[in-house]
Amino acid sequence: MVYKAEYIWIDGTEPTAKLRSKTKILTGTPAASPADLPDWGFDGSSTNQAEGHASDRVLKPVFACPDPIRGGEDLLVLCEVLNTDGSVHESNTRAALREVSERFGEQEPIFGIEQEYTFFKGARPLGFPEAGFPAPQGGYYCGVGADEIHGRDIVEKHLDICLAAGLGISGINAEVMPGQWEFQVGPLAPLDVADQLWVARWLLYRVAEDFDVSATLDPKPVKGDWNGAGAHTNFSTRAMREGYEAIITACESLGEGSKPMDHVKHYGAGIDDRLTGLHETAPWNEYSYGVSDRGASVRIPWQVEVDKKGYIEDRRPNANVDPYTVTRLMVDTCCTALEK
Ligand code: ADP
Ligand code: MN
Ligand code: MN
Ligand code: MN
Ligand code: MN
Repeated sequence: MVYKAEYIWIDGTEPTAKLRSKTKILTGTPAASPADLPDWGFDGSSTNQAEGHASDRVLKPVFACPDPIRGGEDLLVLCEVLNTDGSVHESNTRAALREVSERFGEQEPIFGIEQEYTFFKGARPLGFPEAGFPAPQGGYYCGVGADEIHGRDIVEKHLDICLAAGLGISGINAEVMPGQWEFQVGPLAPLDVADQLWVARWLLYRVAEDFDVSATLDPKPVKGDWNGAGAHTNFSTRAMREGYEAIITACESLGEGSKPMDHVKHYGAGIDDRLTGLHETAPWNEYSYGVSDRGASVRIPWQVEVDKKGYIEDRRPNANVDPYTVTRLMVDTCCTALEK
């Protein structure tokens, strides 16, 4: 048979990489795993991944799932970018996560990432009037009704498509600013949560395209008294799921020495625009953790304190964070401390 595989990869755009994709027609029995799918090539000079004189780059399939938009046997195929000699391309942040997640695999780290995003129609967020501003924030978060909710048809379509693709979506909600929404992926192992979040992002852009709306991960889409968009990263290891001492060890490890800066500088471009200390954020340059505290860098959910086990939430990552990088940093820092 003949079927379509949409090869998706992450480009080299600075400071925030973009998703790219193109379609490969395949013949034969549909591939059962990414390893059965052929490598492919692309023009790296058009994606900030090569100079024109030696522009070929390699797409190596690493994750595949059904393509519910095209349907049938068609596939979505997420790829790593390699150089033609098989080495890891400098834009490929997944390779480093592969190493770290293998090194600490015995601690069984898992993540749930809350992806916030904002719909735009032209130059304005969806639901913003042509001129001026909508009513101030207060009623939009988890709201209902045409006066408060904008884009639910797209959000519902995206949710259905993610579930049909088999992605581990755990929920959705309307956010604090009009046109702003969230979906959560996980809890899943580091590579799985990051691969599936990238594919869910691609599906978000793709579904919104059919509504002539764009989705953005801009961490501060509207300046002033409007919430930014983050990617709260919920994290646990087996020890954290079993006891409170490990929860505290993890929180402390993220605050040690140069760790707060080492993390925050890789938590998405424009971090200081969003982590101002206002709008349910902690200042980007001051690390803190606390129970139930949505003004802290890292929150221990109240239920976790009651149960004396569970997970922590790093509230700092921007919506535009690279999930391969935030999960690598958190596993590296927390699991190193927990190993002692
Ligand atoms: P919030 O109250 O901050 O809005 P959400 O419900 O949006 O929280 O997201 C919480 C996320 O934490 C979900 O993706 C959920 O799957 C994830 N999560 C739950 N338990 C764990 C755990 N033990 N380890 C890691 N992530 C977890
Ligand atoms: Mn061509
Ligand atoms: Mn949430
Ligand atoms: Mn949220
Ligand atoms: Mn949260």
